[in-house]
Amino acid sequence: MIVAIDGPAGSGKSTTAHAIAKRCNLKFLDTGAMYRSVTYKCLADGIDVNDEEAVSKVAEAARIDFGRSAEGQTVLIDGQEVTHQIRTPEVDRNVSVVAAYPRVRHAMVERQRELGYTGDVVAEGRDIGTVVFPNAEVKVFLTADAAARAHRRAVQREGGDAGQDASAKADAAEEQQILRDLVRRDKLDSSRKESPLKPAADAHLIDNSGLAPDEVVQKIVDLMDEARSKSQAPVPAEPEAPAAAKAQEAAPAKKPAPKGATGEKNKPGKMRAFAGNTFDDYYDHGMREFPLPARALYAVAAAIVTFVTKVLWPWKIEDARKLWDDDRGRVVVMNHTSMLDPVIVICSLYYHGKRVRAIAKSEFYTNTFVSWVFSRAGTIPIKRGTADLKAVRRAQAALKRGEVVLIFPEGTRIKSDDQPVTIHGGFSLMAQMAKAPVQPMAIVGARDITPRGTHWKRFGRVFCKAGDCIEFSDLGVKGRKQQAQRMEEVAMERVYALRDELRQEHPNKK
Ligand code: C5P
Repeated sequence: MIVAIDGPAGSGKSTTAHAIAKRCNLKFLDTGAMYRSVTYKCLADGIDVNDEEAVSKVAEAARIDFGRSAEGQTVLIDGQEVTHQIRTPEVDRNVSVVAAYPRVRHAMVERQRELGYTGDVVAEGRDIGTVVFPNAEVKVFLTADAAARAHRRAVQREGGDAGQDASAKADAAEEQQILRDLVRRDKLDSSRKESPLKPAADAHLIDNSGLAPDEVVQKIVDLMDEARSKSQAPVPAEPEAPAAAKAQEAAPAKKPAPKGATGEKNKPGKMRAFAGNTFDDYYDHGMREFPLPARALYAVAAAIVTFVTKVLWPWKIEDARKLWDDDRGRVVVMNHTSMLDPVIVICSLYYHGKRVRAIAKSEFYTNTFVSWVFSRAGTIPIKRGTADLKAVRRAQAALKRGEVVLIFPEGTRIKSDDQPVTIHGGFSLMAQMAKAPVQPMAIVGARDITPRGTHWKRFGRVFCKAGDCIEFSDLGVKGRKQQAQRMEEVAMERVYALRDELRQEHPNKK
């Protein structure tokens, strides 16, 4: 689970996030420490923090890591421990200038996503719920009035803890100075162009001015329980009418239900699958749990689509048994040439008792009708170019249920051999998290049937070929990250090798 805690300086984010990480066994990610480390390095190396180019270069070249010592978490920049050096008033004064530079932010966000890659993390900062992990399961925006925040910081500087001891005193002049600094920093953080400090639309606002730290932690743990029970809705579905579904889904799209309203209040055990009758219900539940009308519609659509495509573009899967005879959840990866590609995999597996979840880019879900069709077809939307952990988790859950997750890592239809290709590697993470294998597949002959910008046309035979499943344990490398990377390479090499075999067997097909 990802918990995102954002809020202004001194609002108690660190204390809260730290306590949650400890209590719930999550990784603690202090993103402010990363911006502070870059600031410290610039100051230490005599770089003017107003020199955007120079500061950006430092951020892009720096390697920031977190470690552990007897005192707690440590921060390292390029191998040098800077845990204490980054908390000085000088860093406080300069950090917001550094953090406003877009290139600095991009470098930090990339590293933050890498560090949160396992998905079990409580991260705190200013843009966690809005930018770094927009799909976090729990988002909190912590606030407190400025005077209370300054008082806490002042007491902390003198070695006390105003959270635990409300009567703790601090030097009045220092407290005033801290208050001025906090207000200035908040202003800079909230008014900057790039990822300003603001609550995510779906964040829970918690004002902790009058709350003890334990009470804040408990509130967030309750939200985590609520989110967990929401995503585990276990009881079988009841039939529903597609028309009703469409009407109900259209409404929240216009006006989102407030947090805690309707289905969100359901307790574990009381939650019914498809109780909310939302698109999310279709992404979050097994396809065999889909309401009867949706399953009937699917069967009819599969029959029609199979018949029509077989007539227009007679397709055949070589070594199809490798695809059909495996009952495990697995990730199928394939080169992408036309809209026929997913149809072949989905329909042929459907008739062999397997359900396929195709991962589709979120750009496809342009309106309620398309989203309605895509959700019933079992697709899972993914926001490309972001760490879309919600999509990864949905795919992971599908794989664990034994469904096949179909991904086109090329991300778009490739129409010629000289078209540049970028491989989107998220598939190996999905497989790894679900402990599932990856199965390569290739297709030839379909490139020309849906040329870009024109209607479906050109008849002709289409050939696919299924490869053997690749297991993580067979990759011969250790370490999660290394294995995920290796899987990406090996699986795509196999896809292209299968495509080459098909091209040799059918020389006039591309
Ligand atoms: O949380 P902390 O006070 O340590 O953060 C220091 C500064 O780093 C903030 O004032 C802000 O300018 C910057 N920051 C940010 N985005 C984050 C975390 C911190 O801009 N996610």
